[in-house]
This record gives sequence, structure tokens and C-alpha cells, in this order.
Amino acid sequence: MKTLLPLCLCLVWLSLTSNAQTKKPWKGQAPIQKVSTATKPVQKQYKGVFELSNGVYCSNDFAGARLNGVVANNDTLITILITPENTPINFSPWYAFKIWAKKSRPMYVRITYLEGVRHRYYPKLSRNGKDWTSLHNRLYFPGKAIKAKGSRPLPAEVTMRLDLTREPLWVAAQEIMTSSDDNAWSDKLSKLPFVTKRVIGKSREGRPLHLLKIGKANDKKMIMVLSRQHPPEVTGYLCMRAFIETICSDRPIAKKFRKVYNTYLVPMVNPDGVDNGHWRHGMGGIDLNRDWQAANQPETQAVQKFMREIKARKGGKFYFGVDFHSTWEDIYYTVDPKLKGNMPGLVPKMIKAAAAEIKNYEPNIRPSMKSGSAYVTSARYFFWKHQAEALTFEIGDHTPRALIKKKGQFAAIKLMELMLKEK
Ligand SMILES: [Zn+2]
Repeated sequence: MKTLLPLCLCLVWLSLTSNAQTKKPWKGQAPIQKVSTATKPVQKQYKGVFELSNGVYCSNDFAGARLNGVVANNDTLITILITPENTPINFSPWYAFKIWAKKSRPMYVRITYLEGVRHRYYPKLSRNGKDWTSLHNRLYFPGKAIKAKGSRPLPAEVTMRLDLTREPLWVAAQEIMTSSDDNAWSDKLSKLPFVTKRVIGKSREGRPLHLLKIGKANDKKMIMVLSRQHPPEVTGYLCMRAFIETICSDRPIAKKFRKVYNTYLVPMVNPDGVDNGHWRHGMGGIDLNRDWQAANQPETQAVQKFMREIKARKGGKFYFGVDFHSTWEDIYYTVDPKLKGNMPGLVPKMIKAAAAEIKNYEPNIRPSMKSGSAYVTSARYFFWKHQAEALTFEIGDHTPRALIKKKGQFAAIKLMELMLKEK
């Protein structure tokens, strides 16, 4: 899929939101707490086309949409309400809708949230749902930035000026990439002679959980890759694609790697959340990346069962496990270097070697997985249950898409080089 976000806009945003290059590196999120992951109810959206009194139409009747209410204030302004699937929930207010008008005209569109929530994602636009650009900043009118718990100072509401036509305009928090987009991408990969694709389970709503096997090795040495536990985290997902495509490439290092190591990938761990336009949770109403110890949800159960069974059957080991996410800015959450897994030192070496290939890029590495900490996240599960060297690979919300691709590519190249040296 082509992503056409103008680099300049993204760079403006990066400089506004990232202090990694200029100030002290970001410390990352607050320590992860163990919470109940027992299933909770989720509020489903009313789906349909909303016809407004000023001749404007909005739709949330498509996969990945989120629009919980809309009214016409007057001839030139409409107000949209965005609510989460349930609460309490992290600050990642996803929105996605289509909008058009009987007659071509400009329209002011205001996005609002429930009390205490702040607007996080800069609007992306598309005329076909596939090629995206950022809204021009001259057409973007954010409210005053206000401090809130769990977020940086951000506006409670934003207004944008959109040029409406009779053809729908997609407006979304990030590029919309649903389970069917993911399926098309992985179908294409699975045509390669060394890639196979199968279903390892079903999500709570019955969507297939796909697993790709990349490589022709004997499963004595394996790596595990996950993505999209959190629906809005499209930038992490884009990095995962670049990482996997590099392992699947014609490069000599990739060909060699595939003979020694098999790579296992679940590209979309939370297809229900993605297709329902959730802010964070699965259809079980909880954050899947807090469920790796309790394993209450079918999505975490399926991945764990696969990893357990292949090890038992083939007598191999997972040497590396990575889970791709997005957050305020690029950061790598790693295991405390004092703790030794199946290939000690691999992850920090890989991050540093990959970063050295990117001009003026200083990686922000946080060894946050310490001894005795609860293993509620996937990366902790990889390390504590499989001794796989583990990484939560976080990409910033506004990281330029070309840089995301580079980060994924270089991480894969350096990983393959280092792991082949170790064999
Ligand atoms: Zn995440």
C-alpha cells in the first residue's frame, strides 16, 4: 500500500512532538501494572449513513470506522463525537469516517470527545481509502492544548476545513489498514516459495488469526513477531511490514537467514479491535497486551498455544521475539541487560547497529523489563516463558513514513547479521 504523507508535514509534527533529538530522551510510559483481563462488555457503534440538515453526509459503515455521533450546528459547521469501546482506557482516541455533500462546498468539521479526553492523532485524508495525505496545516484549527492525566498537553477538540464533494472523503486518525488489508498483504507474501500461511485460532468475534511461517529451516532456531495488538498503532504495523519484507527479500543475508532460522509472524493479533475501530481493546473489552500472564482472551491464547506446541514438537528455541507498537515517539523497550536469555546482548546490539545506518538518529532504549516484574505484555512473555531476547518496538505516532520503513529494514538486516554470527 502506498502512503503518501508529505514528509515536510510529518517532520513539522515530529519536531513539535518529539524531544528525542534535542532534549533529554523521553522516559517512556509509566511502569506497566498487572490488571484484570477478565472479559468486559464493549459498546458497539451504530453503523450507517448520517444525513445532516445542511446537506452533508457522514458514514461509519465500513471496517475500521469510528464515529459515534454527528450533528449540523449550522450551514458551515458540523460536530462529530468520538467515544471509546469501553472505559477505563488509554489515551488513543481513534476516529475514522467518510464525509461528502450533495453539492461541492467547504465545511468546518469539529471533532469532540467525552470529558477529559484529548485529541491525539493529526487528521489523515484519502479519496480512495488507500492513498493518504495529512490534512494541510492551514486547514487545521486545534483548540488550546490542556494538560491531562496520561497524555501530553493536547486540545480537547479540533476543527478542520474540508473541501467536500459528492465523492466520499475518508478522514482518519492514521491510514486505515484493516484485517482485509492485512490479509491481502500476507496473501501476497505467502506466494513466495518459502512462506506459508495458516490460521492458528479465532478472535472473540470469529475473525481468523493468521500465522505466517517464513523460512525453510528445521525449527530448531526460531523468531516470533507480533503486531497490532492495539488497533490505532498503524505506524508500528508499517514498521513490522518493512521488517518482514526485508526478511523475505532477495538479499543474500535474508536467503542465508531463512535456511537457519524460521520467522513466525502474527501480523494482526487484534483484528476485532482494528475492524471495529477500537481505541485499544479487543472484543473482550480489555487490553490484550496486559493478558499474557493470565491469557484470558482467545487471541493471546492462540499465540501462546502455537509457541508452546512448536517448541514441544520440534525441540527448538525462540531466540528473539518482537512486538511492534506505536506511542508518542520512537522508543525501544528492552530486557534489563543483566538478564540473560537465549542470545544475550542481541537486542541492544541490533538497535545500535540499525540506528548507526540512519543519519542523525539516536535510538531511545529503555530496559524496562526487570527481574520479578509481571509478565503481562507479549515481550515479557517471550522472555520469561521462552527466554527469547525480547523487544517492544515502538514507533512514534508522527514518525515520517519513510523513516519508519528504514527503521524496519535496518532492524531486520542487523538482526539477521547478528543472529547468523551467533549460530
Ligand atoms: Zn501498543
